[in-house]
This record gives sequence, C-alpha cells and structure tokens, in this order.
Amino acid sequence: MTALAKARDLVRLGAARAVGRALPFSVTFILTHRCNFRCEYCEIPERAADEMSDAEFCAAIDELRAAGMARASFSGGEALLRRDAPRIVGHAKRAGCFTSMNTNGWRTGNVLKDMSGILDMVVLSLDGPEPVHDLVRRRPGSYARVIAAIEQARGLGMSVATITVVGPWNVARIEEIAELAGSLGVWAYFQPAHEECFDAAAGLHPALTPAVLAEVADRLERLRARGLPIGASPGFLRRLRRAPRFHDCAACHAGRYFATVMPEGWVVPCHLTSGTAKYLNGREVGFARAFFEMPHPRAGDGCAISPYVETDLIFRLDPRAIAAALRRGDGAPGRSG
Ligand code: SF4
Repeated sequence: MTALAKARDLVRLGAARAVGRALPFSVTFILTHRCNFRCEYCEIPERAADEMSDAEFCAAIDELRAAGMARASFSGGEALLRRDAPRIVGHAKRAGCFTSMNTNGWRTGNVLKDMSGILDMVVLSLDGPEPVHDLVRRRPGSYARVIAAIEQARGLGMSVATITVVGPWNVARIEEIAELAGSLGVWAYFQPAHEECFDAAAGLHPALTPAVLAEVADRLERLRARGLPIGASPGFLRRLRRAPRFHDCAACHAGRYFATVMPEGWVVPCHLTSGTAKYLNGREVGFARAFFEMPHPRAGDGCAISPYVETDLIFRLDPRAIAAALRRGDGAPGRSG
C-alpha cells in the first residue's frame, strides 16, 4: 500500500469517526471452519459447512474495500486448507489492503514462499513447548512444523507473531513460550481459552478464574519488563484483570469499525456474537449493505480474544495499543538470547 493510499484510508476513518458513522476499516475473513487439527479447546471444526468460492470472497473484498476496508485478515479453522487462500489474500493485497493470516503452520510448506509480497503478517498458533503443543494439538510433529514455519516466515521478511490460547494445559509454561518467541525474534500474544468459540456469554474455561488471569497479566508485564517480546498492549492486560467482566459488547467497536465475514457469507461483529442476532448474508444483499445494516452487539461481558481486544483499543484511540500495532507493522521485534 502506498503512503498516499494509507493516508487516504486513515482520513476516511477519521471522517467517519468524527460524525459517528460506521466504516468496515478492518475485516476478518474466515475462509473455512474446517481444520486438520482437533485441539483441546476448540470446537470450530464442528461448524464446518458451506463456504464461499474464491470468486465470492474476492467480490466481498472489492465491495468492502470500496466501503473503506484497509486491513484484511484471513483465518479459519485452518485457512490454508483452502488451496485458493493465496489467490484470495493476493486479491486483497492488490486491492490495497494490509494483509494478515492466522495459521497452525502445518501446511505452510511452499505456500508461504508463494505468499511473499502479498502477505504482510502471519500469526502462528503456538500452544507451548514441544510436548505441550503436540498434546494440545493432538498431532505429533505439529510443534516442529510451526517452528519451521516461523523461521521461514521470518526469512521471507514477513512480520510474525505467535498466538497462545492459555488454559490449564499451558498456564504454567507462559515464560517458556515468551522466551522461545524472543529467541525466534517474533511477537508473542496470549489469550485465555473461551468455553465456546461462538458464544461470548459462555465465558472462559472454568480453570481460568479472575485470580489466575490477574496473575497471568502480572507475569506478562514482568516478561515485558525483562525485554521479552510480549505483544499485548497494557489495555489488553487491564481487561484481563477485569475478568470475568472484560468489557461490554455493547460498547465494543466490533460492528462499527471492524467485522467478520463468515465462510457462508454472513457478516457479523465477531465470531463470539455471531449467534446473538439476525445478521445479513453478503451473498444475498451485498457485503457493504450487510455491514452497514448489522445489528450492534447486545450488552455482555465482552471477551479476551487478543486481536479483537487490540483492534477495539485502537479504535478507542488507546495510544499504547496504536503504538503496539505500529511496531508490529514495522516488522519483527528482533531476536534475543
Ligand atoms: S467484546 Fe467485542 S469482539 Fe469481544 S465478544 Fe464482545 S463484541 Fe465481540
């Protein structure tokens, strides 16, 4: 994206915010709910059903780009189970968006190389040191592959981060994961395991009590003070300490400045609120209309899903969340150790 196009997108966002108008600035496209793993904490693959074709995803990108989208994220399930994922991501890049993708790293092989130049940032799932990661993922060898994918993405010059879903299986290993991220030269993000992936009201894994989460927030702060590459902004850690009432969905910017397009074409504020209202399907009414007519999330206790919280904080103009996003966009934090 040229500096001029970036400036134009930001001016458009500023103008929308000034008059309180919604704008689909940042959109997550869930390419599929299918996954090659069956992780301990995730029931997303059970939702696998209809999926839009690559042409439909590209049409959605064009429409939302014209309506103000500047950031396009791609996720799943496992996004790379779709062989057309590079084509769709490349379309978003050519349309002028900043692009990122979440993946479990199993299928990155030659794909990452093909995505060099079209993928700005890659976020890899890392659940712990090797025995923990492979156990949680229920797939021996998955740790080795994710580490190889991280090294490859770094070598290709992509901005790289890890995301760790924290539960009783790895809460004691956070320091090791942060140190590993430091040695690999990537940002490390952590988020607590929610009980249901599609229902914010179901809350967190029962082992993640408010006291446990407050302690996790303290530990992450100490790790940052030691110079380790903790990606979470102070605002995210503040919300962790408020568990189980992280925020209020009714006050969240999901549905106003960021949104999610589901594999079947539904346009929703976020996957955790996707079942709480009657949303529109972009295939039927167009994606811009489905965004602008989206019902706002009802009052609720919010969530601690790292990318959603950080994005909400950015649109709340939280200076440290904005600074963290700018650092990420600039590339990797540099290796330690
Ligand atoms: S806080 Fe925002 S992103 Fe999180 S569940 Fe509520 S509406 Fe969704």
